[in-house]
Amino acid sequence: MADVDYLKSLLGSHPDFPQKGIVFLDIFPILRNPVAFETLITHFVHHITSKTLSRIESKKIDVVVGLDARGFLLGPIVAMRLGAAFVPVRKKGKLPGECVTVTYQKEYGSDSFEIQADAIQPGQNVLVIDDLIATGGSANAAGELVNKCGGKVIEYLFIIELTFLKASSKLDAPVYSIVQVD
Ligand code: 5GP
Repeated sequence: MADVDYLKSLLGSHPDFPQKGIVFLDIFPILRNPVAFETLITHFVHHITSKTLSRIESKKIDVVVGLDARGFLLGPIVAMRLGAAFVPVRKKGKLPGECVTVTYQKEYGSDSFEIQADAIQPGQNVLVIDDLIATGGSANAAGELVNKCGGKVIEYLFIIELTFLKASSKLDAPVYSIVQVD
């Protein structure tokens, strides 16, 4: 598709960042370009309204959950276009009030994600969004938080999926990515 090729062509690629041996893919050139940013958001919203909603009886997404930190740049815009709530999942200790916490394993050591306890109501339909899925550890932890609140993850959405890491098989709902890297 022309829009996918266009978005893919804008991604930055940074060898040895943030550490040696890692090639970091940078989405910020897309956000820097208003036409590209609009193309990106329209692509997500078109996918959700034409494909994702057909799988839900109510035909309605209630909540878009964005992951710390680049999911915060995408989630609120997609949520507003869908008429849904936006809810952040943050690293532990950043959110006020009663929170639900999940600890997950990273390549080196562990990390904890939190969500505000009253942010999702039981039975709500939820989308989880982030810029990139690698091992799927972050997305899986966010899915656990949604489940603990009684919500249902309908789909996980990303700009980029590192398909060779096969993260989608570990998640409890389908994954949709615009650009696949193998
Ligand atoms: P995972 O938990 O799936 O292993 O890693 C995904 C998380 O790491 C996401 O929050 C994502 O923002 C970040 N991440 C890992 N590698 C990259 C990369 O190459 N580019 C970008 N933009 N984010 C990355």
